[in-house]
Order: sequence, then structure tokens, then C-alpha cells
Amino acid sequence: MLKRHLLKPATKQALLGLAIALGLLIPGCGTNPVTKKRELQLVSESQEIAIGKKNYGPTRQAQGGDYSLDPELTAYVQSVGNKLAAVSDRKLPYEFSIINDSTPNAWAMPGGKIAFNRGLLYELNSEAELAAVMGHEMVHAAARHGAKDMERGILFQGAMIAVGIGAQNSDYANLIVGGAQVGAQLVSSKYGRDAESESDLYGMRYMKKAGYDPAAAVTLQETFVRLSAEHKSNFIDGLFASHPPSAERVSANKSTLMQLGAGGDMGKDVYAQKVSKLKSTQAAYKAYDEAVKALASKDLEKAKQLINQAIAGEPREAKFQEFLADMALLQKKPEAALALYAKAINMQPDYFKPHVQSGIVLFSLGRKAEAEAYLKRANELLPTAPAYNLLGQLAEGRGDTALAMQHYQIAADSKSEIGQQAGARLAKLDLPRNPAKYLQARIEVDRAGNLYAVLQNNSALSIQQVQFKVIKYDLKTGRVISRSAPLILRTALAAGAKGQMALGQKVASLQEAKSYQLVLEAAEIQP
Ligand SMILES: [Zn+2]
Repeated sequence: MLKRHLLKPATKQALLGLAIALGLLIPGCGTNPVTKKRELQLVSESQEIAIGKKNYGPTRQAQGGDYSLDPELTAYVQSVGNKLAAVSDRKLPYEFSIINDSTPNAWAMPGGKIAFNRGLLYELNSEAELAAVMGHEMVHAAARHGAKDMERGILFQGAMIAVGIGAQNSDYANLIVGGAQVGAQLVSSKYGRDAESESDLYGMRYMKKAGYDPAAAVTLQETFVRLSAEHKSNFIDGLFASHPPSAERVSANKSTLMQLGAGGDMGKDVYAQKVSKLKSTQAAYKAYDEAVKALASKDLEKAKQLINQAIAGEPREAKFQEFLADMALLQKKPEAALALYAKAINMQPDYFKPHVQSGIVLFSLGRKAEAEAYLKRANELLPTAPAYNLLGQLAEGRGDTALAMQHYQIAADSKSEIGQQAGARLAKLDLPRNPAKYLQARIEVDRAGNLYAVLQNNSALSIQQVQFKVIKYDLKTGRVISRSAPLILRTALAAGAKGQMALGQKVASLQEAKSYQLVLEAAEIQP
């Protein structure tokens, strides 16, 4: 997928420093498991594995969830993966899954976690071609390409922009919070040209070792070049964005093929047989994808017609029911929407979206206890800002301020309107306790030597009843000489506003003024 933003070097350094401080990176030197070259390794193998394990599930969720209607197909993809894993240079806890998205794409995460989109499987013509993509992705994981990107500090950036690309349910793309953002980064980054040719080369070697005809890597690359020239847009959003096809790659693969020698399994018939069920519902998913577009452009009639077509083609697909539910919500029929989300959950219990949507609808209907269960389950699958924001409100309603603040804090992470709302709710709870975090207080002195308290509201809220004390220190010893009674600024301070108050004290010099300081004690949010 596309990498849209490159960090400034200073930010990269800061993030790398942060990663080291968090214990994510421990400097060391090692041998690359694939190329056998010596290299600086900051991310250890156990960390790579931990990162993959932690992020694999949420990232699959974020990209559309697993395609689970054809377990035999999933087992087949896994068996091809296992054949290649058996001959790979590195033993990792490899896992392979199929994501329910029509964009032709595949990715690998550190620690050997690999995923294929449903949409890519339509485009391949043989098991050997599947093995070619698989081998390529496997080398990305085995040769530490993702880990190296982390070491260079070029991850952790623009996460939310990247994650939506290729994910059809992009309405949640910028609402993912917490560690799941990192997972999006891990699979959305575009590797360098060296990493790509390394993956092409060793991926073909794995193919050959596993008994496949490496010639399939060449024909596949040729197909990609052709499709790319035809500007098939879904390819441009998917695999081509992270793996740009080129004539150079084709010719490099050709010379690798010369070294390895053509010959081996092609597996055309077995592949055709294994994807036959999937292909029989391709038109249904195409209708669904178009329904999504129609709904996005507010053409409800067309969306309805297309989704019915999709359901007729694949009545078992949970996403189609979820889409009907989304439409019911748009038409302000919350009860109907709830029933349809329940149907979707029944069909596929472990996809986050109908859970979080049910939670939102139930919350809006005032059915809070029911809402809470759905929101919690949704967050287990994929943490999102809307779920945390509502869980925060539920905790606040119960008087559990500490938990509410925790939830708001997580939701406030998301660069979205909901994130801002959660931030404001957090500030409302936190400001009366920690006024100094939101207000700046200092002493000023006029020409006549009169002291003033100057209070600056740095929050986005209107504040009143700012309470503070004036403390006088001995500048030599630092000892407190006197402490005033609590003083209150009578005027309210709008967001960003500044207020001042005469303290009724006079000093003889600026130096003497320095011995006075303000301590903020309390403030109220204006109702
Ligand atoms: Zn690649």
C-alpha cells in the first residue's frame, strides 16, 4: 500500500528514541537469516514475533476481517504457505489467512504473519503463481524487511491514512486507536527497491525448493506489468502500490529463472478447482463493492438493488447483512438495523464492525448495559475511538471517573471528530483536578510595582472560578515565607483567553517580584 507521508529526520530520530526508551529496541548486531549478510539489528527475533502476534488479528480486522465462508480454500492457501515455510531460511511461527476484501493485495508482517486478500485470489491462475506471491511475502518477513523499516524509524507514520486504502469499510479507517495503529503501519509500508528484489530473488528460490515451477514468478510479474499499464485501479490501490511492477523486475526474474532452471509443479488444475467456489460468488462481491460506492454517493435505491443482487449470489455473507443494517440506520430505523447486525454477527461472530455498530445504536437508544457488552467485544477485536468514547461515557455515568478518563484518553488518540469529542470530555473531568495542565499562571508587575496574577486558559473549554494561591519564597534559601489565602479570579476565561487580577501587593524591584509565585488549585468548567 501507499506510504503518503515521510517523516522529517528529526521526528524519525525522536520516534526511534521513543521506541528504544519503550524497550522496543535493543541495539545489536546479527546475520540476516536470508541474505546471510552482517547487519545492525535493533529489533530482536522475539520482538519481531511478539509484534506479529499482537498485530496480526487487529490488522486483519482493520482490513475487512477474515474470509471464512470457504474453510477449504483457507486450508489450501495455508498448505501452500506451509510448503514454502518448510524450505524458508527462517523458522518463524508463520500464519496465513484470507482477508475479505476485493482489492488484489497481499502482505507480510514481522514474525511471519501473512495475509492474502480475497481479491488477489481471483487474479491468480495457478498454485505456482500463488506460491510466487507467497514466497515473495515470506521473504519480506524472513529477511526482516519490516523490522528494518522499524529500525530506520520510517514506520509509525501516517498510519490512519494508510490503513483505509484497500479496506472497503474505510469509515472506520481513521478511528482505530491504540496499538492497532502500529499493525496498520507494518503492512502498509512500501519497502525499498532492494527489499523488493531480494524478495523476488529468494521467493523464487523458495518456490523451486518447494517443487514449484519458478517460471510462474515471471509470468505473474508480466501479468502485473500489463494490468498496471491498463491502470486497473483496484490493483493500484493494492499490491501494485507496495510492489510496483516493472520491466526491470520481469527481466531480473527471468535471469533468476535461468539460474534456477524452469520446471516443477504449476498446479493449474488444482488451483482452478480450489478457487471455483470463490469464483462462483465473485459477481456477488462485485455487486456489494458497487453497492458500497452507491451508498457513499447517497444513491440509496441503487445501493438497495445491488445489495439484494449480492445477497442472492451469496446468502451466507455477513458483510451483506451488515450493509443492509447500515442502510436501515441511514433511514433512521435503529431496531431494524439492530436485527440485521445481529444476523451478521450470527453469520460471522468475530468481525468487529457489527459489534461496534450495535453498541452505538443501543447506546443511542438508552440501552446502556446491552451497549456496553457489544462495545467491549468490539474493542477486543479492534480497538476504535467510537467504542472507547462510549465506554468512557458509560463509566462516567456510573461515577467511575478514573476508568472514564482512561477510555477517553485512548479515544482521544484518534485524529477524528470523535477523538476530539473524547479529548474534550477528558479535559472536562481532568481540568478541575489538574488545572495547571490547562492553565498557565504567572506574576506580572507594573511600573508602580503592583503585582498581578495573569492566567491564561490554554484549553478548548470555557473556565470559571479559577482558584490559586500566592506564595512568597526566600530567593536565597528557597524557603516559603508566606502563603496567601485562596484567591479566585472572578471573570470567566473563554477558550484561549487571558485574565488578570490585581493582588494588592507592591514590590520595590523586579528582583523582589521574582520571589512571588502562583500555584493553581482549582478551576471549574463553565456550564
Ligand atoms: Zn514486496
